[in-house]
Amino acid sequence: MAIILTDESAGRHQTPAGHPERVERHEAVTAAIQKSGLSVEDAPAASRDALALVHSARYLDMIFDMLDGHDFADGRLVQLDGDTYAGPDSLEAALRGAGAALLGVDKVMSGQERAVFSAMRPPGHHAEPERAMGFCLFSNAAIAACHAMKKWDAKRVGVLDFDVHHGNGTQAAFWHEPDFFYASSHQMPLYPGTGATEERGAFDNIRNLPLAEGTAGAEFLAGWREELLPFIAAARCDLIIISAGFDAHSRDPLGGLNIEAEDFAALTQDIVALAQQTRAGGLLSLLEGGYDLQGLEQSVAAHLDVLATMK
Ligand SMILES: [Zn+2]
Repeated sequence: MAIILTDESAGRHQTPAGHPERVERHEAVTAAIQKSGLSVEDAPAASRDALALVHSARYLDMIFDMLDGHDFADGRLVQLDGDTYAGPDSLEAALRGAGAALLGVDKVMSGQERAVFSAMRPPGHHAEPERAMGFCLFSNAAIAACHAMKKWDAKRVGVLDFDVHHGNGTQAAFWHEPDFFYASSHQMPLYPGTGATEERGAFDNIRNLPLAEGTAGAEFLAGWREELLPFIAAARCDLIIISAGFDAHSRDPLGGLNIEAEDFAALTQDIVALAQQTRAGGLLSLLEGGYDLQGLEQSVAAHLDVLATMK
């Protein structure tokens, strides 16, 4: 069984006019969810203790001091980073994004669900332990991985990231952790600039697959099948988490790759096969980027169609 976790606060997290990470993204994802026929449950807010699995007390103090109870009466958003903003509902949305990741782990590790998709925004994979970055406040995938280890005694956890951007935040959280594995394909050069092949983590626990502008589905899938998926398979993870960004889609305004919805479906199918070999027997998928509304809706729909087949 597969389910969706979301909350309407994901449709209230404001960014400045013209910002690509906008509320309309939530509407596009919601349309895909409705077509999928999958059931939807509420995303609960994460506790500060859960966020502290990855983020420093200094960073959490800063975020809560800036946003919790902030008076937005002047209509101005709070700027957290060069391109990361928060409005009146952003802290709630970000907390529920992290909370969806935590609940998703519980549902998959307990065997209650085979696949859980968190349809929350803002995304998470650029947020580092000490800073908000790249539209992201909390490092949802890394927080989920830590939770799986702490609560469910997962011995090794893998995060697979096919967003067009490198997940510097997840990589930073995992760098010195021998039992957390991170595999990412991403366009290079592109924001944030990390993700070179040589970046392998302190315990050879990270694999990066940089792709040149214009790369299409066949090469993208070959890279995953020949390098990244075998690396994660060899790690014998107890749980697989996907950082599911759909900005590698050919229509995306921020990315320059030529991936189509059916390519995301094909990769999802391969990841499902891998996840079925894990102790969890299922997987957790977290929405990251995807900034063309049509490309996003089609890609999420294709991704969910595959997750829905998990028994
Ligand atoms: Zn992205």
